[in-house]
Amino acid sequence: MSTIPVPQTAGRPTSRASHTEELLARYRAALVPVFGVPQTVLSHGDGCYVVDVDGKRYLDLLGGIAVNTLGHGHPALVEAITKQASQVMHISNFFTSEPQVELAEKLLEICRAPQGSGVFFANSGAEAIEAAIKLTRRTGRSRIIAMDNAFHGRTTGALALTFKEAYRAPFEPLMPGVTHVPYNDGAALERAVAEAGGDLAAVVLEPIQGEAGVVSADAAYLRLARELTSAAGALLVFDEIQCGMGRTGRWLASHADEVVPDAVTLAKGLAGGVPVGALVTYGEAVTGMLTAGQHGTTFGGNPLACAAGLAVIHTIEGDALLANATEMGRALVDGVTGLRHPRVAGVRGRGLLLAITLTEPVAASAMARAREAGFLVNAVAPDALRLAPPLIIGSAEVASFLAALPGILDGAVSVAASA
Ligand SMILES: *Cc1c(COP(=O)(O)O)cnc(C)c1O
Repeated sequence: MSTIPVPQTAGRPTSRASHTEELLARYRAALVPVFGVPQTVLSHGDGCYVVDVDGKRYLDLLGGIAVNTLGHGHPALVEAITKQASQVMHISNFFTSEPQVELAEKLLEICRAPQGSGVFFANSGAEAIEAAIKLTRRTGRSRIIAMDNAFHGRTTGALALTFKEAYRAPFEPLMPGVTHVPYNDGAALERAVAEAGGDLAAVVLEPIQGEAGVVSADAAYLRLARELTSAAGALLVFDEIQCGMGRTGRWLASHADEVVPDAVTLAKGLAGGVPVGALVTYGEAVTGMLTAGQHGTTFGGNPLACAAGLAVIHTIEGDALLANATEMGRALVDGVTGLRHPRVAGVRGRGLLLAITLTEPVAASAMARAREAGFLVNAVAPDALRLAPPLIIGSAEVASFLAALPGILDGAVSVAASA
């Protein structure tokens, strides 16, 4: 944690073409091209750093898109997975295991869910959203209000809630009954709720929209959403797949606003890189809406993923990583703002879910230049760089990025938007 990262090329194979280029060529020949061509080929990681197959080292400020909560190769997570793998990895949901029960209890505790609440385990964010959609159907109603610029995943149900036209259009018709309204606009929400009337099943929203460029809703808006859904007899679902699990310095981003939803979806950071998703249902009435046989999954809640989730939560608690997320987030915000760089417009977000907003659409170029300089960030919008580093990041790592950022931004150029 104390060394300033220097891009390293030691270990680069000299007797043949770059291993990176070779593997990217094989990637193009062997994989469905939905992700485009990856930026590079990573080999291994350690703490907040990852190393590519040519030996170049990067400070990982993206954390697998808010997934690698404990960074890479964290001993507590490695030990938990190793131990569980040697005991039992999978048992089917005809059976349960101690890690599954313990993780469910722990999630209810950190989500501040009342007595009678429950957890359904899935394997991804989209699957957690699918479970939430089925839960909303059990109201006997079919209309769902979601938000402009929302991202809820790519499976067909989740895609109906996701906003982006380019993601949706090739797959229409999608699940009917979804209305998108402008995010954080109370009057628009009020109108949409009134319009849906007695057929409104739920309002689904991200307390912080990650894919939209790290855009937060106001506390007043979340409170209004709570009041309107309660009055309409509809459910309020918070998608905290990206902003939850301690990333903002609180277990849930919505804890900052003290609004209690009817259900929360979790995934990304929950098991530190092991695939997992969860739907948390609040209170007895909501939890009882899904009964035996109404939903299921083969892998969901397997002991391996649950042991990983427990290790992540225990480490966040034991190492005070919520406080670290708050502190390092502040250091990043203050540091970036303090640069007074002409290309920096500001910083959005909370804790370690941040976007550096730029005065020009140079984010893609800045991302490439950052990578050259040994830093992984994400051009989440043409004019915004997203940071979602591991919650274990320290001051020296933050300082190394702040030292490099002016040079990264100085030479960044505006490029045509890529597909
Ligand atoms: C990533 C994400 C999802 C989808 O999760 P997958 O694991 O990719 O299916 C859903 N909602 C939000 C807010 C996300 O950030």
